[in-house]
Amino acid sequence: MATLIQNRSASSGLVGSRASATKGRGVSVRPVQRTASDRTRGGNVVSPRRKDFPIFQERPELVYLDSAATSLKPKCVIDAVADYYGKYSANVHRGIYRLSEEATAAYEGARKTIQQFIGAKSEKEIIFTRGATEAINLVAQGWGSQYLKSGDEIILTVLEHHSNIVPWQMVAKKKNCVIKYLDVDDRGVLKTDQLSKLLTRRTKIIALTHVSNGIGVINPLKPIIQKAHAIGAKVLVDAAQSTPHSPLDVQYLDCDFLAFSGHKMCGPTGIGVLYAKEKILQEMEPFLGGGDMILEVTKTNSTWNEIPWKFEAGTPPIAEAIGLGAALVYLREIGMSTIRTHEKKLLAHALELLQKIPGVTLYGPCDPEIQAGVLSFGIDGVHPHDIASIFDEDNIAIRAGHHCNMLLMERFGIPATARASFYLYNTETDVEKLAQAVLKVKKIFS
Ligand code: PLP
Repeated sequence: MATLIQNRSASSGLVGSRASATKGRGVSVRPVQRTASDRTRGGNVVSPRRKDFPIFQERPELVYLDSAATSLKPKCVIDAVADYYGKYSANVHRGIYRLSEEATAAYEGARKTIQQFIGAKSEKEIIFTRGATEAINLVAQGWGSQYLKSGDEIILTVLEHHSNIVPWQMVAKKKNCVIKYLDVDDRGVLKTDQLSKLLTRRTKIIALTHVSNGIGVINPLKPIIQKAHAIGAKVLVDAAQSTPHSPLDVQYLDCDFLAFSGHKMCGPTGIGVLYAKEKILQEMEPFLGGGDMILEVTKTNSTWNEIPWKFEAGTPPIAEAIGLGAALVYLREIGMSTIRTHEKKLLAHALELLQKIPGVTLYGPCDPEIQAGVLSFGIDGVHPHDIASIFDEDNIAIRAGHHCNMLLMERFGIPATARASFYLYNTETDVEKLAQAVLKVKKIFS
């Protein structure tokens, strides 16, 4: 299986592109009501999935457009977590009693599910962390401290979330390394032609995001990874925004490390994954000490457990790992290609509606072929925080701010954006409510 996300040259849309007044004249947004088309059009094959999410029973009016921050949770995940606590709550790997064996089987079963979900060769390559941030820190602090030397170079991109910048800055300071940044064009598309110039014999690692959380642009990973490997550099992929939304295969990508979070893909908070090639993990020193990562301790020395446990110190997030396993089974049943297709259609519909509204600025490629279901925008003369507050009056949840993307905001010369992000439970009706709310904001500020 290959990752379905391929970067193609974008054909339309500009960062900072704005609907012209002429184009916007006579703009109308369809009144919001559920129609037959909701059920048959726009990839809404997935929308009946709303019933799987108890929050919509609790809050039927909710239009949740902040899944890039965290996703909603289906009942099967909530049940899986509750079952662990209510039916077989025990520590893992330690007990010589059935309850503990049951908990261990469920915990390790989740690891197997994750291995299959991302196409890893072996369960040994799957390390549970608290999230993508911890996974990236594990590589920067663990691998980086061991292998980086003074003068070595690390390549990042201006698209990175702070979680994939700060850990590298920390290790670079300690080891006296140089960090270089790959820039984007005005649409937010990586200038991959600059990579050949940035890569040198001192380059030890490229750490880059698969999908930008700020503007949704999808990066062309495969050729970047091939270029890095050609000069002997490693590649870490921050897949926090891609693993939840489209098929992904680590063996096809051939990345060395890949990090993601459970809470963005219908799983619980406090759980994430670091995938790394087995050989790298075998040769890497542990990151944290204590608990399950130990084989033997003497007064002067300790030896390490096998991988993956060598990297899982202390009592792990058991319920959270089991919940993530349940989330992946749920997503797998729906199909990751189906989810990607659904979100692509939602994004296309949102672009179509928002591009027509004068005074709205859209950031990013504005091309569903190279953009995930994340749409950053601004409205002339209105602070993004005000946009989000007015949306909230109509139960529409969006994110406003720099999205932990200060380098990207600097690149575009803006302090913040408003961001709507889609997932499997969103519908075309949600997109239409988004467009209506934009018109409402404009009216209030006119
Ligand atoms: N990387 C990207 C691209 C993200 O969007 C996020 C969170 O928004 C992270 C990393 C950090 O994820 P977490 O906070 O779950 O560790």
